[in-house]
Amino acid sequence: MRLSIKEPIPEIFEAWEALSSAADAHLSENRELADRFLRDADSRVVWSWLNPAWEDVDQHVVEAHPSGDTHTVAKSERDPDRRIRAAVRKEVLQRDGFRCRYCGIPIVSADIRKKLTKLYPEAVPWINSDPAKQHAGLQCLWLQFDHVIPHSHGGLSDAENVVVSCALCNFGKHGFTLRQLGVSDPRLREPISVAWDGLERLR
Ligand SMILES: [Zn+2]
Repeated sequence: MRLSIKEPIPEIFEAWEALSSAADAHLSENRELADRFLRDADSRVVWSWLNPAWEDVDQHVVEAHPSGDTHTVAKSERDPDRRIRAAVRKEVLQRDGFRCRYCGIPIVSADIRKKLTKLYPEAVPWINSDPAKQHAGLQCLWLQFDHVIPHSHGGLSDAENVVVSCALCNFGKHGFTLRQLGVSDPRLREPISVAWDGLERLR
């Protein structure tokens, strides 16, 4: 069993450090330096690691139908609310911190990314419809809330079934189960707390 569908590379952590330095520079009102760090975090290596991995879902499947696995259930048996309520998100974030429960990389919320795009439009590009025109560091470190047991398999949108994850560990998983992907259940490991605020200091 692996921890995540794709092993993070050192360049992801370098992008993270550059983002953190950019936030510090911005808060010290050194916009020029912040701009430079933000550009450093827009790493082509990180972009290539992530794209197209989050679209090529099938390539991550190691076993089509593992025995004892969960399976798709009728719509009437699914949680009527697939959305994860704000209170659940808050609880999950408090428990997991700003860190992917699968692969362990630090993450940043879309709110903070939007703010950075507004402040530094040239250094932090983001076109929703075009992943090629999205800032690579913030694309990779994009905070998600993942249903461990897929919603389509009857997984609930509650704190027991939801974990903090990065973009690839959420989107790359798609509707497949952890057994199909050969990934161990992150809920069986304690969250590891790190001194990382997800750049929330920019709020
Ligand atoms: Zn991850």
